[in-house]
Amino acid sequence: MQTDVIIIGAGASGLMCAMEAGKRGRSVLVLDHSPKPARKILVSGGGRCNFSNRIMGPEHFISQNPDFVTSALSRFTPSDFLSLLESHGIQYHEREEGQLFCNRSSSEIVDMLRSECDRAAVRFQLNCRVSEISKTDGFRIETDQGIFKSQSLVVATGGLSYPQLGAGNFGYLAAKQFGMKVTKLRPALTPIKFSPGDARVFGCLAGVSIHSTVSQGSTSFKGNLLFTHTGVSGPAILQISSYWDRKSGLSVDLLPGVDIYSVFIEKRRSKTLLSTILDQYLPKRFVKLWCDLHGAPKPINQYTTHEIASIAGSLHAWPLRAEGAEGFNKAEVTLGGVDTIDLSSRTMESKKAPGLYFVGEVIDVTGRLGGYNLHWAWASGHAAGQFV
Ligand SMILES: Cc1cc2nc3c(=O)[nH]c(=O)nc-3n(C[C@H](O)[C@H](O)[C@H](O)COP(=O)(O)OP(=O)(O)OC[C@H]3O[C@@H](n4cnc5c(N)ncnc54)[C@H](O)[C@@H]3O)c2cc1C
Repeated sequence: MQTDVIIIGAGASGLMCAMEAGKRGRSVLVLDHSPKPARKILVSGGGRCNFSNRIMGPEHFISQNPDFVTSALSRFTPSDFLSLLESHGIQYHEREEGQLFCNRSSSEIVDMLRSECDRAAVRFQLNCRVSEISKTDGFRIETDQGIFKSQSLVVATGGLSYPQLGAGNFGYLAAKQFGMKVTKLRPALTPIKFSPGDARVFGCLAGVSIHSTVSQGSTSFKGNLLFTHTGVSGPAILQISSYWDRKSGLSVDLLPGVDIYSVFIEKRRSKTLLSTILDQYLPKRFVKLWCDLHGAPKPINQYTTHEIASIAGSLHAWPLRAEGAEGFNKAEVTLGGVDTIDLSSRTMESKKAPGLYFVGEVIDVTGRLGGYNLHWAWASGHAAGQFV
């Protein structure tokens, strides 16, 4: 079967690319090995889909070439996506730091993309396993549902995270097949595991959440830190995991914005228990464990100034002895990907194989937490959709 454009991957970037190419009158076929399209959109943002962010710029992305995103982001902005939602009557809201979420459900976004694709006469072949791709005049794609041919081929197969939702290494192998480079791949936006010793000590805090600042060197993120049975998670941890080199230590300020040393000194002459003071700032379960680890809580007037300074210091710079990060099974995204040096930032077309395009997470562009990864999928899919 001959078609203008074949897109492998019916996820966020593939669907956006398909509807844009279809609107231009191109005949488009989308292949996916999963039984349903866009399964990651459905689970994103806890089912409410943090689909974009009002505050958008290259500084919110990690890539060997941070400027690569500029062109696509400037041609498909958060407002463009909001206009699309509004034209489908989908309600949304803004949370802290510009994060945009659906009011109701992520499924509304999938339905919207499907209906835009239907309107643009895009065809789908789901449950379709691709065994081989090759290029002569055009592209030839061999699958378990037959052989398909196209002028343009778009690889929109996403990253390695959440293999249970259809992720795999197809896109990286395709890039290498056509002589393109792939940068080092590793899990990002992922929980961090404690060392075995700390897991035994802090595992009992599973479910406790503390507003913190987590730092490695000069990089730091503020947000909730959530204790789990095996380590820590929550927005601040997920964010730092993308930057953490796995060798250096992480430092956590458990009381950002509070000068706990001054608070202690103010109450210096009182008989108030240290734990009673801390209970006003930190969850009780955490305070109890912390005080047990630092000797039974005494009245504050029984601590020396040196001890007070040391306790305050350890609350503002708690050394997180992490053993490692969780793997691709629990990571929201993949850091690294198809090297941008081999791609046009305007069209997403390969410089090594004309007619071959890469969009979305498969590229070496990783967004921070907050709607940036989906926005990159929309923007890169939109960019390629104008040219395929
Ligand atoms: C739990 C979770 C929550 C997330 N929440 C958010 C969020 O709230 N906001 C945000 O911005 N980002 C979020 N992300 C990240 C975001 O979902 C992805 O970055 C985004 O979906 C990437 O889009 P994509 O089109 O590149 O890939 P995907 O959406 O992953 O789509 C890839 C498609 O390719 C198909 N495919 C893969 N290999 C093959 C093959 N060999 N043959 C055929 N088809 C293939 C897959 O089945 C899939 O349908 C979340 C991710 C996870 C895992």
